[in-house]
Amino acid sequence: MAPSSYNGFYTYALAGLVVLSTLYWNQYHAPEIVSHDFGAQLESPVDVIILGGSHAGLSAAATLYRHQLSTLIFDHQKPRNSWLTPMRVLSGWEGKNPDALREKSRKEIAATGFAKTLDKTIISVEKTNNTLFLVTDSEGGMWYGRKLLLAMGAEFVFPEIPGYAENFPKKIFHCMFTFGFEKRGSEHAGLLAKGSLSTVKHALMVAQDTLKFAKNLSIYTDSNPTLAADLLSALASNSLSDSVDINDHSIKRLSSGGASTISLSLGDETTHTRDFLVHQPLARPPPWIVQQLGLELDVMGNIKTNGFFYQTNVEGVFAAGDCASPFKIIPNALLMGANAAAGVARELPRSVTGNGLRGFEGRERRGIWMRIAGLGGF
Ligand SMILES: Cc1cc2nc3c(=O)[nH]c(=O)nc-3n(C[C@H](O)[C@H](O)[C@H](O)COP(=O)(O)OP(=O)(O)OC[C@H]3O[C@@H](n4cnc5c(N)ncnc54)[C@H](O)[C@@H]3O)c2cc1C
Repeated sequence: MAPSSYNGFYTYALAGLVVLSTLYWNQYHAPEIVSHDFGAQLESPVDVIILGGSHAGLSAAATLYRHQLSTLIFDHQKPRNSWLTPMRVLSGWEGKNPDALREKSRKEIAATGFAKTLDKTIISVEKTNNTLFLVTDSEGGMWYGRKLLLAMGAEFVFPEIPGYAENFPKKIFHCMFTFGFEKRGSEHAGLLAKGSLSTVKHALMVAQDTLKFAKNLSIYTDSNPTLAADLLSALASNSLSDSVDINDHSIKRLSSGGASTISLSLGDETTHTRDFLVHQPLARPPPWIVQQLGLELDVMGNIKTNGFFYQTNVEGVFAAGDCASPFKIIPNALLMGANAAAGVARELPRSVTGNGLRGFEGRERRGIWMRIAGLGGF
């Protein structure tokens, strides 16, 4: 029988081997979940700050983590479709609640360890020293990032017609792709030719869309006699004249005309009841961010971007989704988010971020243990 010191030696050797192989396994086979402290202070800025954690912002974060870039997303949970109407034109999510998509996406990117969402309102943004961006939240919190990706959506500016806000979007539809199908077979719809619909070309284009779902259409110009006359003469040479009429009276009030109709009280003291009203209210990027960063806008009032990666006129600032496009739909927000993120990633090589080859601190800490154990690492 071997002496007990001989047994002790092998017991310790075996235990040592188990510890070393666990360290080795951790180094090379642990799940690829790493951690960043997301403090985003001057000395350790986050790689990318995303303003807006809805479809565009989350799509960007889902792309950025693939290049091991740390991302801090700020979102005060006021997406443009705050009514949460069912999603259309998004293959695979037909009829689902947009919050379900955001929630799923948020969980996915949080699990990567590279992105964190903070439910905070950002109130100011500045470029500090030409290399970093400083954003400040409404509680005074300050956060530094190397790049800025704007995904803040667009805010509606409704016309000043009493009852408009109360009936949008239940009875007032801004997009016939989103809302037309469910109203197919309607008897009589209305179209409010104001704002972006106050040109003959645009009004008649949307009139054609609307007539796919309603037999008759009244176009209301709300006291715009020039437009009314132009529309009338355009209709005279147009096959629409049988099913379209023009009304130039002022609109005094919009009210719900029952479960599925809307009533227009007009300046001539008549009331028109329609199955639905079509109008595209102004939707613009938050003016304060445009002003603070000195962002250029395009002719339609969206943040102007250049190239395939949606770079703005301010170096290091990219923009995606509703705030930077006339195509204000979810598929476009997803696409722009991913492409803008790819552009951001190209501007953040490892020599700039200092990130390890396999992530941030979590990996580097393991590297130290491996070095102590003499097995390499970072
Ligand atoms: C009634 C309605 C129905 C719609 N239905 C459809 C549909 O069926 N299919 C479809 O494809 N599209 C639909 N859309 C359009 C779709 O909602 C938008 O295109 C999409 O939400 C754009 O995504 P986004 O990420 O660019 O902006 P948003 O979804 O608007 O998100 C912007 C985010 O930025 C955040 N944010 C903004 N400013 C700040 C700040 N200062 N601090 C912190 N966070 C901030 C907001 O809280 C918000 O979460 C609909 C729109 C409306 C109004």
